[in-house]
Order: sequence, then C-alpha cells, then structure tokens
Amino acid sequence: MNALLVYPQFPETYWSFKYALSFLGKKSAQPPLGLMTVSALLPDHWQKRLVDTNIEPIRERDLNWADVVLLSGMHIQRDALLAIVERCHARGLRTVVGGPVASSVAAADLKADHVVIGEAESLIADLARDLEQGAARAVYQARERPDMATSPLPDLSLIKMNRYSTMTVQYSRGCPFNCEFCDIIEIYGRRPRTKAVAQVLAELDQLRAAGWRESVFIVDDNFIGNKDRARQLCVALAEWRQQFKTSFDLTTEASLNLADDPELMGLMKEAGFKGVFLGIETPDESGLISSNKLQNTRRSLLECVATIQSYGMEVMGGFILGFDTDKPDIFDRMVDFIEKSGIPIAMVGLLQAMPGTQLFRRLWKEGRILDAGHGDNTGVHLNFLPHMSPERLVAGYRSVLQRIYNNEAYFKRVKLYLSRAPSPRGDRSSQRRWFTHSNVRALVTSMLRQGIFGRQRWAYWKFVMTAATRYHRSFGPAMALAVMGYHLQVVTRKLLKAEDGTGFSLAD
Ligand code: SF4
Repeated sequence: MNALLVYPQFPETYWSFKYALSFLGKKSAQPPLGLMTVSALLPDHWQKRLVDTNIEPIRERDLNWADVVLLSGMHIQRDALLAIVERCHARGLRTVVGGPVASSVAAADLKADHVVIGEAESLIADLARDLEQGAARAVYQARERPDMATSPLPDLSLIKMNRYSTMTVQYSRGCPFNCEFCDIIEIYGRRPRTKAVAQVLAELDQLRAAGWRESVFIVDDNFIGNKDRARQLCVALAEWRQQFKTSFDLTTEASLNLADDPELMGLMKEAGFKGVFLGIETPDESGLISSNKLQNTRRSLLECVATIQSYGMEVMGGFILGFDTDKPDIFDRMVDFIEKSGIPIAMVGLLQAMPGTQLFRRLWKEGRILDAGHGDNTGVHLNFLPHMSPERLVAGYRSVLQRIYNNEAYFKRVKLYLSRAPSPRGDRSSQRRWFTHSNVRALVTSMLRQGIFGRQRWAYWKFVMTAATRYHRSFGPAMALAVMGYHLQVVTRKLLKAEDGTGFSLAD
C-alpha cells in the first residue's frame, strides 16, 4: 500500500511566522509531528511519502503514486484540508482525515472517506488492516486515550529538515486545568499523560544524529501538567546536555503556576529551556474567574512573568479580548499590562468559541453562537455575540494591536525582557551556536529590510545599538526578536488594513 501523508497549509496569521521565516530562508516553523508519528505507526511493509504543503505543493506524480491519502491538521487548516480532500476525490483517491480537526469538525463535514477521531496510537493498526482488506469504516473513534509509552519514535526520514526553523518533540498530552474556552482538555483530557524519559531522549538523539543543532519546541499542551514528571525529565535533559557538550535551545508551553516553583524553573534552565508560552489571557481578574482560569487568579501576573524571565526564559504570552466581563477600559488595561510585562511576543486575540468546548456549549444554550469559528483567534472575526457591542470590541482590539506592535513599543518590551534575563555569561557554546548559517542570513536580511527599507528605521537602529552594547552577550537572541517583531508588524498592518471602518466580520 502506498500512503501519501499530506499536511494542509496554514493561513497567514501571527502564528504562521511567515515573514520572520523568510529572513531565515525557512519555509515553515515546525514539521508535521502528528503525521510523522502516524507514519511510524503504519505497517512497515507500506510505502510512505509525506508532503507538507506549507513548504511545497503536492505533485501530480505523488497523487499518481498513492493508494491512499492521509491528512491531519488543526481547525485553522480546515479549508485547505477540504480543498485537498476534494482534489483527491476528483481523481478517485481514497482519503483519511485525522488530527485535532477531526475532533472539532463533524465527520460528515470533512468529506473524507474515513475519519479518525482521537489519538492515532490506538486506532491506526485497525485502520491499516481494514484499508488493506478494502473494508475500512467511515469513522474510527478512539475508545480511550492511549498511554504515551505506545507512541513511537516519529518518522524523521520523511521530512526536509532544513526547511523548518525548529524541530518538535512531544513529551506530554493533556492539562489538569479546566479553562472554559479550551479545546485541549476536551481532546486530550485533564489527566496529563507523559512519555518515558527514555522516549524523549531517543527523539533528541534521533534529531542530533540527523544533524539538527538548532531549536526544539516541546509541543506539550502544558509541560508542567505533571510537575514531578517534568522535574525528572529536566534532570535527564540537563545530563544529556552535559554528555554531548551541546544542546538544543528548548521552548515549550506551560501554565503560569510555573512561577510558583523555583526548583522547577531552575531545572528547566539547566535543561536548556530558553522560552515558554503562557496563557495569561487577561489582566482582568473577573475575566479569569468567569472563564475558570483560576490558576491565574489571586496573584500578580506581572510578578509571575518577571520571575520566569529571571530564569532566562523568554515569556511569550497569549491574551484574549471579548470575555463577557470585559469593560470598556479593558483595552487600555491590556496595553498597559503588555507594556509592563516585557513580553515581546504577545499574541492578543478575540475570544473564539471552539466547537466541543464548555464555552461553545454555554453560548449555544444562550443562543449566541454565530458559526463554528476558524481556529484563528488573532483574526478580526467573531463567532459568537459578545456582551460588549461587536463594533466596540473589534475597534478596541484593533487599537490594542496598533499600540503594541509599533516598532517603538515592541523594542521597548524586548529591552525590558533583556534587562530581566540573566546574562548568558559563560554559556559560550550557546553564543557560538547562535551563529548558524540561517541566523547570520537573518541578521543581514534584518539590517537591510528593517534598517534600510523598513518603517520607523530610527527605532530599529536604536535597538540594534542597545543590543550590541548593553546586551551584547544576548545579541543573537535580541536580533532574533527583532526579526520576529517584523513578522508581527507586517501581519498587524495587513490585519488593520483588511477591514473597513467598522472593521469586524460576523458570519453570514
Ligand atoms: S491551562 Fe491552557 S491547556 Fe490547560 S486548560 Fe487552560 S487553556 Fe487549556
């Protein structure tokens, strides 16, 4: 059986990092880890090819070769995925769709011959057997969430590694918290499941053996969902780092209560973590309470961020506007918080009610759902009727984007972060590692594109001078953030331009 694994294209959003990737000569941020894992689960005697349409188009000869096309993606990739399914069907090719999109979109709407709902580890053997026998069912639904010990080493041989800016490893799935708007806990559950330490090290060994030396994103829902296990892994990662006298720069996602645990933050630092994405959501405590994000309440969010930054981890933050509790001053409060946080990459989005979430169910009962959403909360689109007038909410959202993503405000936040992070004095391997071909290329492109042809050039050069003098030991990461800023600014400009005066789109 010839299996063609296809990863649909992401639309252009803040999360695509498209304009930063072009500086690095890369095509996409991360490889399709889910499909690489599916490939490893398929029978050995099957032939496999993988096409990530974020880096290359599907060739006719791949479609001619395939007996079956397996697609996976997230809700945001839905439209691109449906177009590929249609293209396959037009030539009589059998299709299978799985991944998170299969949990958030009704099976019939995916239009595939077979839909796999749930995690691949417990389903792929049955699906493969049935496909071989020509007796595959329309829907395969996992009865339980698999033990991650059964998750195989992802098939690295299928991807064009140098087209990506970071490699990915998954250590855990699930999160113990219960945020109302979260689809993660609906899909992966609230009991964090982890791989064994040896599995993670084997994945890192595989990346190292393949020549990868750049960053690795631990793509967990919440890396510290099980803190004891996270501690054990960090100790092992630090030993691994020592053993090879080098390591990857690690980033991950975690809940804000990381700030309560100095031991764990210290271990993460030793393990090589350089960044962490936190769902901060809102500086307004009533919004946190109403959305059941209780782990972010009864604390100073700004102090938590500063504490984590002091361990050398750049904090990236997720923020949401549109909670029922938001008052007209929320926009100014949000900007003020972001300014004081020193979070350069602050992803502010409008609340989206994702199908399958507690929020969707509540708003559905209240008759406020307008459509199923598109999975990108950083676009100007509302899929439910908010309490605040939609025009006021979208205008406020636009004003927040405008204020946080101009050069001056952005570089001010980067400098605040750099002032809080410990100087990487003595970590010469880390400084040397930064000077890779793609980073040097990004630096030169940045100076041309941002420093010579860019807008607000004076703010850029002022920042470069400060980075080169006051923060020279962190010059590489500082310039990487300058490049990220370019992406965020271009997407912001496009977002603000795309809409008319009132500037919001409600579903038909
Ligand atoms: S902390 Fe994050 S992953 Fe966990 S339930 Fe809340 S939003 Fe979901």
